[in-house]
Amino acid sequence: MEKPFIDALPIIEKLEQTGYEAYFVGGAVRDSIIGRPIGDVDIATSAKPDQVMRLFEKTILVGIEHGTVVVVYNEIPYEVTTFRTEGTYEDFRRPSSVTFVSSLKEDLQRRDFTVNAIAMNKEGHIMDPFGGRSAIERRVIETVGQAAERFHEDALRMMRAIRFVSQLGFLLEEETKTAIIEHGHLLKHVSIERIAVEFEKMMGGQKPQTALALLIETNLYQHLPGFSLTDEMKRTISICKWQRAKDITESWAMMLILLKVKETASFLRQWKLPNKRIKDVQAVVDGYYEMKKRNWDRQAVYQYGLETALHINQVNMMLSERPNEEQSIQALYKELPIHSLKELAVNGKDLMAICKRKGGPWLSLLLQTIERKVVDKELPNNREAIKEWLQSCNQILDEPC
Ligand code: ATP
Ligand code: MG
Repeated sequence: MEKPFIDALPIIEKLEQTGYEAYFVGGAVRDSIIGRPIGDVDIATSAKPDQVMRLFEKTILVGIEHGTVVVVYNEIPYEVTTFRTEGTYEDFRRPSSVTFVSSLKEDLQRRDFTVNAIAMNKEGHIMDPFGGRSAIERRVIETVGQAAERFHEDALRMMRAIRFVSQLGFLLEEETKTAIIEHGHLLKHVSIERIAVEFEKMMGGQKPQTALALLIETNLYQHLPGFSLTDEMKRTISICKWQRAKDITESWAMMLILLKVKETASFLRQWKLPNKRIKDVQAVVDGYYEMKKRNWDRQAVYQYGLETALHINQVNMMLSERPNEEQSIQALYKELPIHSLKELAVNGKDLMAICKRKGGPWLSLLLQTIERKVVDKELPNNREAIKEWLQSCNQILDEPC
């Protein structure tokens, strides 16, 4: 048993000692069987949320209606969820309330895919009533029970299926795929926030291109905001070298470039992404188009900053087959005399004093000129030297300054 499970054993033991059942479930059990690194360890139990809360010192009630309590043990948070079914579904979304049940099997039955419906007890014994291990051996993503029915219950599962294809590198089982083709339209009932979580995990998986091809093959892409694909774009996507990006900003930037999206910000706002991410992605997309036309030099590295410049380099490598220019970008950045306007030895106030003039449009133009000269090392970043240079340009001082 891997360390994350061993660390969580005392929780299971305590629940069992009190007379409840408790098992490891979900992604961690799946990943341990596959041999992937294990993420969060989740626990399913027959104890009700209030009973779980009474047993442990540090708990957080996540949602009484879904039966989930977070137990913080040795500083690590664990989701402990009461065995449940999801009762009746309305509007193709997760139900607002659930029914607690007494058996592990019923709990596993409400889970989305067979690979996610495996439990493990404290001895490491596997409970697998729906053939999850066999699916892992066959490397397929298939729903627990009838795919069409399961997607009717919660349409997000269609996105989840494709994100697991990308993350695990598995195939989409035929019935599951057919059901996505037939029920894709149900995705409109799901909130964009939930879709975005799965979409980002899909882009960050090991096979993002296979997953994208599936989104196209099943037509599920038609129900994603801003996705209007021409046949030519579909072809480009099928032959491009989209590999796992190092970072989600790069993934979104590649997506937008492949989709030939003109209005980056409004596209990403439809996905309700945080403003910071929108800004970061916008900078990489703009930088990608700009740097296609020119070479990296001090000005470019200064303008974009190191982080964005490295993202642009990655996107360029994947989409334009440009060589990896990371080393020269790093070297250029290292030798920059300043990294932002704040580091310039003079500011607007200084220039007004030196030129004996009030502020105006001339000021920012002059600041920009000095900034450019300093970055290009034509002028040292030193107050006296800049003053001298200003005085030597009579024109500037006498006239428009
Ligand atoms: P990850 O490694 O990305 O966390 P995961 O399998 O743990 O993958 P989660 O989204 O954390 O995925 O969900 C935990 C478990 O809850 C899943 O393994 C699955 O059993 C169940 N589950 C999650 N979402 C759904 C859903 N929409 N429908 C049915 N079961 C779900
Ligand atoms: Mg998880």
